[in-house]
Amino acid sequence: MAVQFARADVPVTETWDISDIFPTPEEWELEISALAELVSSVALSKGRLHEGAPVLLACLLALEALHKRAARVFAYASLSLSADGTNPTYQAMAGRAGAVGAEMQAQTSFVQSEALSLPEGTLQQYLRDEGGLAPFRITIEKWIEKKRHMLGPETEMALAALGEVLGSPGEVYERSRTADLSFDAVADSAGKLYPMSLGRHESAADLVLRRNAYTTLNRGLKKYLHTYGTTWGTEVKKNVVLAKLRGYPSAVHMLVDQQEVNTDIYHNIHDVILTELAPHMRKYARLRKRVLGLSEMLYCDIEAPLDPSFNPETTYEEACELLRDSLKVLGPEYAQIMEEGLCNRWVDRADNVGKRTGAFCNSVYGVHPYISMTWGNRMRNALTLAHELGHAGQGVLAQRYQRLANTRPTLFFIEAPSTINELLVADHILANSKSVEMRRWLIMQLLMTYHHNFVRHLIEGELQRRTYALAERGQPITATVLNRVQGEILNEFWGGEVVIDEGAQMVWMRQAHYYRGLYPYTYAAGLTVGTAVARAIKAEGAPIAARWVEVLKAGGTLKPLELARLAGVDMTSKQPIQDAVAYVGWLVDEVAQSF
Ligand SMILES: [Zn+2]
Repeated sequence: MAVQFARADVPVTETWDISDIFPTPEEWELEISALAELVSSVALSKGRLHEGAPVLLACLLALEALHKRAARVFAYASLSLSADGTNPTYQAMAGRAGAVGAEMQAQTSFVQSEALSLPEGTLQQYLRDEGGLAPFRITIEKWIEKKRHMLGPETEMALAALGEVLGSPGEVYERSRTADLSFDAVADSAGKLYPMSLGRHESAADLVLRRNAYTTLNRGLKKYLHTYGTTWGTEVKKNVVLAKLRGYPSAVHMLVDQQEVNTDIYHNIHDVILTELAPHMRKYARLRKRVLGLSEMLYCDIEAPLDPSFNPETTYEEACELLRDSLKVLGPEYAQIMEEGLCNRWVDRADNVGKRTGAFCNSVYGVHPYISMTWGNRMRNALTLAHELGHAGQGVLAQRYQRLANTRPTLFFIEAPSTINELLVADHILANSKSVEMRRWLIMQLLMTYHHNFVRHLIEGELQRRTYALAERGQPITATVLNRVQGEILNEFWGGEVVIDEGAQMVWMRQAHYYRGLYPYTYAAGLTVGTAVARAIKAEGAPIAARWVEVLKAGGTLKPLELARLAGVDMTSKQPIQDAVAYVGWLVDEVAQSF
């Protein structure tokens, strides 16, 4: 591997321009100090919301003004730190921003709770009386919906006071995973040793390295089997009890309600994908076993690369051209956003010491999105850039057309815009490339995306679904139960193509998603919507693309199912899910034919 530069030594053109947020750190200093006064202006309304709609309006406007300016302050600190986590100045800035954020949260959390403690019908009356509240209607209506499940003020206060304690299962797991878990170094086929950590060497081409990593990983994890079984079991128990207290039929009902969807959709996604996708993925597993010459497929071989020697290259400039051409169909306004993003230093593509790994996009309100990734002159980087620009396009359009509070759709929808861009770029390459290796490589990249979102995360979702069902029936969730259920799900899915050994039964120990409500299945939801829209754009072109841009403009003003409907996708039906599965089946067939 090439030697990494220090942040100060990377070419400025490869970095994002943080001065678009604040010209200098001094101005950031001034602004973070100014936030306290803005918080006070929100607090002026404390204890006064019963006085009438104008007071609520003044309060919400002050809160919005605070959030707008605070967003820049927090983004400046977190982006600086993610560009170079080793810089003590950035560490201090992030620490300060964190403390100010917590204080802000504590000082302004009265708004919602006080509004909800007003007598029945008051908020509805305020909305009728005060036209100025119109932009906040969605926020207020969400509060009202929540009210049905609110407990008495004393109980709510007690629960809020215990907030940190209720968050402890996930906290204990995270701490342990980052601070306690350690692994021995692992050797490759030549005897060379490599450092080992969670997720490392998972798709190494070297069989010996891959399998050594798997054995070492499992040995390290097993020491915490009962600890993580207990943290998980406690998390499940907590949600079951809270759901009962708040009058939901089950924990799953409570958790899907937070995502503004219903349990039918939740069940459909699991049922359809896990049963209908399984035959395609088994076929892919058989192909992998044959091409790699394996006598048996272990869990660690599921994503082993089939053609590691082919890794197409592209420069950043070439990739920009590719993206321009591929995304042109989304119309002039969208193209303009992409152009700005590619040319005006929204993207940080340097590889330097201390830079946060993985790609992400942070759309800073009132400024522009920032994308972090590293550019290794690979076509894979172009797909990642397309993905992150999808998040950026969503951010810009929603912020351009909506008030701050209404810019973000729920988790359920969040991966749709990114997937669509990835698929549009892939389609463009497929349509213009005659090379067998290139086509195959590209399809395998897409299959990797589907593997993560439709297989890996959805199997996590299924494990949640089954354990919550057991817990609702009063069964304690322990490591033994989790290993057994995890093994059952994997055996059902892979149907004998993959050996489900003890290490496979313990994969639940690797993932923090389980402590974030029903997070895992939302990946599949976003990808289903994304697949449907990208397929439709490919088939019908501009009108569908224009409709999609309207959906992006709507931001978070609609619930996720309504957003999907606006995009022409009926997520209350199984059809889009089945279509996405069929598309994956087509991709598998294409790869199979090429070997
Ligand atoms: Zn994404």
